[in-house]
Amino acid sequence: MAFKSLNIIDLILKAIKEEGYSKPTHIQEQAIPIILQGNDLLGCAQTGTGKTAAYAIPILQRLYETKSQEKKRKIRSLIVAPTRELVIQINDSFKAYGRHTGLSSVVLFGGVSQHSQVLSLRQGVDILIATSGRLLDLINQGHANLQHVEYFVLDEVDRMLDEGFIQDVKKIISKLPFKKQSLFFSATLPPEINEFVSSHLTNPSKVSV
Ligand code: AMP
Repeated sequence: MAFKSLNIIDLILKAIKEEGYSKPTHIQEQAIPIILQGNDLLGCAQTGTGKTAAYAIPILQRLYETKSQEKKRKIRSLIVAPTRELVIQINDSFKAYGRHTGLSSVVLFGGVSQHSQVLSLRQGVDILIATSGRLLDLINQGHANLQHVEYFVLDEVDRMLDEGFIQDVKKIISKLPFKKQSLFFSATLPPEINEFVSSHLTNPSKVSV
């Protein structure tokens, strides 16, 4: 199986080739068509399986295909993950696969000054990648508006729940529009997660690697 047969557009295929990837991983092969079709998704996958590209590539493609001509960019995709290291890595992936699309991304995490993060948000951004605490602070201060989010990813759901971020995540979800595509990824799926997931995903396709 080649990336091309997953109906990925040339601009992104070019970036994938520049990354040196020769073929999709299992999770990519399974998840990319589902995401491009517009379904909600529950992916059971560990780090190292290529799960970031499995959602970043189709999200970039959908955003690019429906890009607005408006000057000021709105946050159309939100990715929430548990740690600073992870959100930085995810942002690097979006930047790499999206390098020929003209789409922009911003990363937010706590433990550093808000100032430059607020300035980046003010300029307008297509894709926001954030840890939950800092994102909630910036929402509450009126710096991040999530009303235009079309694609929402929650990465490492099991860690988010274990580490007590669940209340923050629920508050963030309450700020998102009802109509959106949601993609949740988790390394494990204990019952608590199933309960949380089934209340926040609509008829999800399930993918496991
Ligand atoms: P992840 O599971 O998203 O943390 O990805 C793990 C690593 O796999 C990252 O370093 C990616 O750059 C790499 N990767 C992702 N997709 C592919 C692919 N199709 N072929 C080779 N490497 C990949």
